[in-house]
Amino acid sequence: MDPVEVAAVADAGPGPAWQSKCPWGAPNTTAISCSLADVMSEQLAKELQLEEENAAFPEVAAVAEGPFITGENTDTSSDLMLAQMLQMEFDREYDAQLRREEKKINGDSKVSISFENYRKVHPYDSDSSEDEVDWQDTRHDPYRADKPTTTPRKGFIGKGKDITTKHDEVVCGRKNTARMENFAPEFQVGDGIGMDLKLSNQVFNALKQHAYSEERRSARLHEKKEHSTAEKAVDPKTRLLLYKMVNGGMLETITGCISTGKESVVFHAYGGRSTAEDKVIPAECAIKVFKTTLNEFKNRDKYIKDDYRFKDRFSKLNPRKIIRMWAEKEMHNLTRMQNAGIPCPQVVILKKHILVMSFIGQDQVPAPKLKDVTLSSDDMKKAYYQILHMMQQLYKECNLVHADLSEYNMLWHDGKVWLIDVSQSVEPTHPHGLEFLFRDCKNVSQFFQKAGVAEALNERELFNAVSGLHITADNEVDFQAEIEALEKMNEDHVQNHGKKLSMFSSDGDPPIYDE
Ligand code: ADP
Ligand code: MN
Repeated sequence: MDPVEVAAVADAGPGPAWQSKCPWGAPNTTAISCSLADVMSEQLAKELQLEEENAAFPEVAAVAEGPFITGENTDTSSDLMLAQMLQMEFDREYDAQLRREEKKINGDSKVSISFENYRKVHPYDSDSSEDEVDWQDTRHDPYRADKPTTTPRKGFIGKGKDITTKHDEVVCGRKNTARMENFAPEFQVGDGIGMDLKLSNQVFNALKQHAYSEERRSARLHEKKEHSTAEKAVDPKTRLLLYKMVNGGMLETITGCISTGKESVVFHAYGGRSTAEDKVIPAECAIKVFKTTLNEFKNRDKYIKDDYRFKDRFSKLNPRKIIRMWAEKEMHNLTRMQNAGIPCPQVVILKKHILVMSFIGQDQVPAPKLKDVTLSSDDMKKAYYQILHMMQQLYKECNLVHADLSEYNMLWHDGKVWLIDVSQSVEPTHPHGLEFLFRDCKNVSQFFQKAGVAEALNERELFNAVSGLHITADNEVDFQAEIEALEKMNEDHVQNHGKKLSMFSSDGDPPIYDE
């Protein structure tokens, strides 16, 4: 019978005689093992999540779901990309199935087992919204069997002719079969467990050996995947997203890496064409990819955790999403700065943990950082006044404190200073906002005083000039103490009134420095 005939017979529906006689029973056509309720609840959860995100961040939704990279728009002309997308889809389905099995096994039990180690897509790499990852590591060793029923020391159970020893073939065989449950879930053991199958020690040992080596192989693959993240700067998922941007035509080419930092990697790209009429893609773009490994971000939690704009979301999200919030935060902050007319990169698009913005520089050469450029004393003075003005604008108009301002995050381009790297910027009423501002002021004052700008205010004067506050302490320790007292006052206000001060009060605006 050729394959076409087989298909035809199979299509003919139930009934053919050969099927009922078949020793393995009729082929199971309802292979999908998840129930309708499962599908519905998953879909519902996704929809709810989306709704919530859209409500909280209408801007993001507008940008992220922009005309560039939507599902419908995906160019599927590339075999590689298709293959990668299919693989991803498969991995996702596989993991969903695994999750269902996990749920089924755990039920309401207080002690649960986790299949996390067997997932194709590691939770931190996964972008599916149904991924719920706890901060705590609750993993159990799935290989460790539940306490086995042991044969007592004497080596046998029972009495008289019912005596069974630990060598009893039937008992042993059953035990071996039961032990197969401890193999990794991806290791297909059939339904021997439910069939009173008795495995001989020899067969069991061979299977165990195989299961273990499969497990080690899978672990090696995972390791390799993670290793490549560090080596090639971006993980496969990021590469795919970037690929889609190029394939969709938004970017012409990605030329190379400009910077690899602890938290991000920045690439240069030539802008492509836009599908939206009102959107112009800059000729040259910078792509900031926020690293999706967790450790680098852990110590920066404080910037985002206490930022009330993100507060509600923070506790609910999995680590992957929190990393995305950094990109989101940078986008929001850049947009505010753009609106205030502060020279900074212009946001092009935000896609998950990838932020595309205009490139500060020319012909693939990024503008030098202030720390690397040699300026005439006139230009240095000009730069100083410009920064003073920008800090004031940032505080007053954008309601932001940069929080990582230094000669490393200021670029000199086109005869002026450009501010970059604002993912950690916070509002002044952030519980540590004023401390961050003071630190920024120290960096700026020190840099310009060292650079020989005689007019440069000291850090305390600069702080007052930017914030409009009048802290009178004449030494750093007292100044810092007063700042902390103000922050505490603000926090108390939050406690008592349920909301923050809209701004720290000041008697009158400081003079705006603008040369
Ligand atoms: P990090 O958190 O790694 O410091 P940054 O945003 O400061 O991230 O970017 C790192 C480096 O990449 C910068 O110092 C700058 O040289 C370069 N860079 C970042 N954004 C741009 C941009 N829009 N145009 C040109 N260069 C950029
Ligand atoms: Mn930086």
